[in-house]
Amino acid sequence: PRTPVTLLGAGAMGSALARAWLAAGHPVTVWNRTPARAEALAAEGAAVAPSAAAAVAANRLVVVCLLDDASVGEALDAADLAGRDLVNLTTGTPGEGRARASWAGARGARFVDGGIMAVPPMIGAPESGGYVFYSGSHELFEEHRDTLAVPAGTRWVGSDPGFAALHDVALLSAMNGMFAGVLHAFALVRGEDIAPKDFAPLLAGWLTAMAPAVHQTAEQLQSGDYTKGVVSSLAMQAAGIPTFLRTAEEQRVSPELLTPYLELMRERVARGHGDEDGTGMIELLDLRARS
Ligand code: NDP
Repeated sequence: PRTPVTLLGAGAMGSALARAWLAAGHPVTVWNRTPARAEALAAEGAAVAPSAAAAVAANRLVVVCLLDDASVGEALDAADLAGRDLVNLTTGTPGEGRARASWAGARGARFVDGGIMAVPPMIGAPESGGYVFYSGSHELFEEHRDTLAVPAGTRWVGSDPGFAALHDVALLSAMNGMFAGVLHAFALVRGEDIAPKDFAPLLAGWLTAMAPAVHQTAEQLQSGDYTKGVVSSLAMQAAGIPTFLRTAEEQRVSPELLTPYLELMRERVARGHGDEDGTGMIELLDLRARS
């Protein structure tokens, strides 16, 4: 028999999770603040609980996928968590993950926090490569690993309950930077006789070719030698700053997404680190190192 799952939250992501478990034969009890969204899942075989507390009482394994950490606290306020295994797939900060773990522990529950690296269509589709970071109670994770692996791949990142969120937000932050660059690039060519659909493959190819640079960054960070293996020195890159800014100006594009990064580059060179590449700029970002 498959492990029964209680799921709080039938939003876009919660519904996708519920469908994956239902399709794999897991009994699912679902609760949603707005009942209509849970009703759609009832037609597909889920049991609908009248309250979050009733849903929590139904099964030992309780998965929560709500909007934010505050909604998790609100939804679980009246629930008896004693003896429950709580898996929180709501996106939050590392601090929220740690606080939620203590909160759950004080109520007698084991706790695991998760960070979903997938969009709803990737849930229940193993070939999509979507996965979830997990951290917190390793016992809980091991016990429910097979069930948790049904909607998406699983990656355990440690017993610190803040680590799932930290990994999640770190990857999403890198993505933000990448999309900022992509937007600036499209803005530069916009209005010229360059079709976005012709430009897109060039952009994707270039980003893909540059992505492995993260491994050199990692090596430099681990050795502490930011000059090791440098092929594009920061001095050379900084010399190109006016070219970036003047091109933006010529194309009538705001440089606001680029400027902070270029400023950081300038600052690092001004401090005498022109022989490094970009890695050493981390010292300027790290507020602990800076103070
Ligand atoms: P939706 O906006 O589709 O759903 C939000 C859910 O939260 C709904 O079930 C909503 O209930 C519920 N909710 C909001 N506020 C409260 C509250 N105060 N009390 C109780 N329930 C509340 O969001 P998603 O399902 O897409 O996202 C859920 C989580 O999954 C988020 O943390 C998100 O960051 C994460 N995630 C989503 C991804 C995506 O692409 N969608 C990707 C990766 C992670 P109601 O129906 O009553 O409004």
